[in-house]
Amino acid sequence: MDKRIPSLYDLAPDALAEQMARWGQPAFRAKQLYRQLYAKLAADFAAMSDLPAALRETLARETVLGTLELRNVQTGDRGLTRKALFGVTGGPPVESVLMIYDDRATVCVSTQSGCAMGCTFCATAQLGFRLNLSAGQMIEQVLWAARELAAMKPPRTLTNVVYMGMGEPFNNYDAWWESVVRLHDPKGFNMGARSFTVSTVGIVPGILRLAEEDLPINLAISLHAADGALRSRLVPVNRKYPIAELVRATRVYTEKTHRRVSFEYVLLQGVNDSPDHALELAKLCRGAADKGPPLLCHVNLIPWNPVPGAPLGPSDRKRVLAFQQVLEAYKVACTVRVQRGVDIAAACGQLAGAVLT
Ligand code: SAH
Repeated sequence: MDKRIPSLYDLAPDALAEQMARWGQPAFRAKQLYRQLYAKLAADFAAMSDLPAALRETLARETVLGTLELRNVQTGDRGLTRKALFGVTGGPPVESVLMIYDDRATVCVSTQSGCAMGCTFCATAQLGFRLNLSAGQMIEQVLWAARELAAMKPPRTLTNVVYMGMGEPFNNYDAWWESVVRLHDPKGFNMGARSFTVSTVGIVPGILRLAEEDLPINLAISLHAADGALRSRLVPVNRKYPIAELVRATRVYTEKTHRRVSFEYVLLQGVNDSPDHALELAKLCRGAADKGPPLLCHVNLIPWNPVPGAPLGPSDRKRVLAFQQVLEAYKVACTVRVQRGVDIAAACGQLAGAVLT
């Protein structure tokens, strides 16, 4: 990168204002630029028509808007699911998925290229860890989705941002949180805190840190098994942060925030999907793990999406229903995640940067 300021999206409002001052620009110009970036969704400097031509030339000479390069967009579900493949300057690619529903539109954002967590049922894990994305690079994925929606007829707006793409957000906490704060800023993109969801493999220090943050975003935790030995096989990080610690951290989080966590549970036929497994999960949710009161939680069952080379299969419909019935009998709130983008390898756990497919 030969530019002196790598990417405007990596500058917080203060840093952007300071940089503009260094270029001899008055404060109101910095505000205009900030609005162009996050409220008007300008895709290039030429579109920033309220900025003087000379300033736009300076920007084009001294900096770049972003460092993700849109390489390909694949569409599925009759155009309602769109997967973007982005080249990362100087690194391996990442993917993002836009999902459009009748009443909402959600973008699923990657926080890393590849992932170090090694979950046995996930395609991203097969890549291993490649690199941490910057806050700006996460923001760029969201802005891509917002622009796609704005270009629809009639125009749509983005209602949800889920950090559930490639990577483990809590292994890149600072950059991830910076992206949340920026996208939330009412003076810019103005996304409500409750519109964000982060999904973690179960990094306990990250959960405890999130409990202390002042924006009430949603937390999802990838549980996938209520039994320690089984969870260690599916989610190897369980050896570092076992279920008992995860439950403790969940209690700290719910007591502090009064917000319900969502436990994600991918259903693998014959592995973790029997009525006994459901019973164990129900008991965990009811507080059995530490003999406490019921956890403030909800279970999100995820039908497994096929991953090349994984010797696993998705649970059939009957087993999913039976599993759900056990949870309901124990009064554990539970939903089954709607599958999106399976035909274009855009569903949960299928993002592999077109490297594997
Ligand atoms: N690293 C984060 C985000 C991962 S993706 C985490 O682990 O939570 C979001 C969810 O999809 C996680 O619960 C993840 O375990 C799940 N997942 C991974 N591979 C999957 C697959 N092939 N089918 C369905 N869900 C999968």
